[in-house]
Amino acid sequence: MSDVPTYDAVVIGAGFAGLYAVHRLTGMGFRVLGLERGQDVGGVWYWNRYPGARCDCESYYYSYGFSEDLQQDWDWSLRYSEQPEILGYLGHVADRFDLRRHFRFGAAVEALTFDEPARAWTVRTGDGQTVTARFVVSAMGCLSAVNWPDIPGLRSFRGRLLHTADWPHEPVDFTGRRVGVIGTGASAVQAIPRIAREAAHLTVFQRTANWVLPARNHASDPGFDSWVKANYGEIRARCAASPGAVPFEAPTLSALEVSDAEREATYQSLWDLGGMRFFSAFTDLFSSLEANATAQAFVAEQIRKTVREPELARALTPTDHPIGVKRPPVDDDYYETFNRPNVTLADIRRAPLVEVTEGAVRTADAEYELDDLIVATGFDAITGALLALDVRGRGGVSLKRHWQNGPSSYLGLGMAGFPNLFTITGPLSPAVLANMPTAVEQHVDWIAGCLDHMHREGIDAIEPTEAAETDWVSHANEIVGHTLYPQAESWYFGTNIPGKPRRFGVYLGGFGAYSERCEAVAQAGYEGFRFTSGPNRAPR
Ligand code: NAP
Repeated sequence: MSDVPTYDAVVIGAGFAGLYAVHRLTGMGFRVLGLERGQDVGGVWYWNRYPGARCDCESYYYSYGFSEDLQQDWDWSLRYSEQPEILGYLGHVADRFDLRRHFRFGAAVEALTFDEPARAWTVRTGDGQTVTARFVVSAMGCLSAVNWPDIPGLRSFRGRLLHTADWPHEPVDFTGRRVGVIGTGASAVQAIPRIAREAAHLTVFQRTANWVLPARNHASDPGFDSWVKANYGEIRARCAASPGAVPFEAPTLSALEVSDAEREATYQSLWDLGGMRFFSAFTDLFSSLEANATAQAFVAEQIRKTVREPELARALTPTDHPIGVKRPPVDDDYYETFNRPNVTLADIRRAPLVEVTEGAVRTADAEYELDDLIVATGFDAITGALLALDVRGRGGVSLKRHWQNGPSSYLGLGMAGFPNLFTITGPLSPAVLANMPTAVEQHVDWIAGCLDHMHREGIDAIEPTEAAETDWVSHANEIVGHTLYPQAESWYFGTNIPGKPRRFGVYLGGFGAYSERCEAVAQAGYEGFRFTSGPNRAPR
């Protein structure tokens, strides 16, 4: 008998998705091993510890809904919680449901190999250990594979070189230091105002200006919190049915069918309210350039009003993409920060970054001497975490080959040729354009229902048919074609990673409609999937 440990399921990752998957599957009586490369739970909130790291969704819905006791007991201190509090929440969940004992920490998965005769996966970790499991559930997150840019000389920098997505666990003090930040995405936009308050000087290297929305973060309001707790059932139901898995009313009017004054008033009230709700102003902000231009004009005016130096305001105003189609950062005081005397914007679109030297960043027209260089260049999103592993499905075919033309899956849940491998918030699911915890719970619940069905029916393996996967990819791409998203280069398309095929990685049909589709697929006997049962039976 082999001494390789055997489980019913291996869950990779201990963030929102992995914790809930382990909780749900162990609750069904499965023998589950969680594998996590970090030393503790938290996922993205374990690694992204840069100053200002915070969630851009409000905490009362960016939280688990699976336990009534949990949601009644937990109190958030801020409207948008910061990283330490979210990490504390996930630690609390791990303790409360006794989840850590199912995990091995510091265990980075390196390879997944499907053993066809056994209909099971062999899972190898970097510490040289191997386990087998009937099922593998990837809960590695959509934004977890760190993107270090290929900038000449970067590794020769002698000061502190930091990446926002792999931040030290000890506090980093910038007092009296000359700091550079490369990038102006959501991570940089959160970090820049905080670092500017501490550093002697901050230089922001901007390749593409971003449309930044104000968060209007504030301390929790006890009255509102009591209302939330009394109405959580309805709030979660609204999330489950809405396009973005958020509890807000969808817009009903086009930006082009209201008067100028009414449009302005709508934008102003949502701008004052703060956050992504700005996009709930009108129905056509993501489908009509003309409608989108009205929102761009409104935000451009806010930038002009905020940034005192007109030339600087111009440089900070995007000109190359509609608002919203590249993930808009959310923060307070981002534009205001550029009025500070200790902050410089280096426009590296105009004067490109040439190289990093031992003590400076050199652009086409200047040299910026630095003590610390922060790289805020994001992630190899959506497919990057799984592609970093050696994943071999039926016939030894690699996932790299399967995804050679870009992200592909059926419902974002699995891929043809990779039986019993489930992806939570996988490619071509609504994932990153939906409120994550809600999306995670829907996927995990669907997978749990599927495994329960297989167990009861004595089925060994499940995988999507090639036809179902091809149809899903076409359907997802077709929807993208009706939107303005193709008008921006972004990590949604994978174009932030040199050589990555350009294909939109997210399902844009809306979370509510998507969930209904998943449910209908299950009700129809897992339509589009094929099952394999018993040693000698053909797939049915
Ligand atoms: P990102 O959005 O991909 O932004 C990366 C930035 O680095 C961009 O400004 C990019 O410029 C720049 N960049 C990349 N490579 C470069 C190079 N070689 N030279 C110069 N500049 C370069 O990454 P992110 O800010 O880490 O955010 C990624 C996603 O994580 C977000 O969109 C969001 O979904 C999520 N996130 C969420 C939160 C939250 O909820 N609070 C916070 C942070 C992040 P270009 O635009 O020109 O490519």
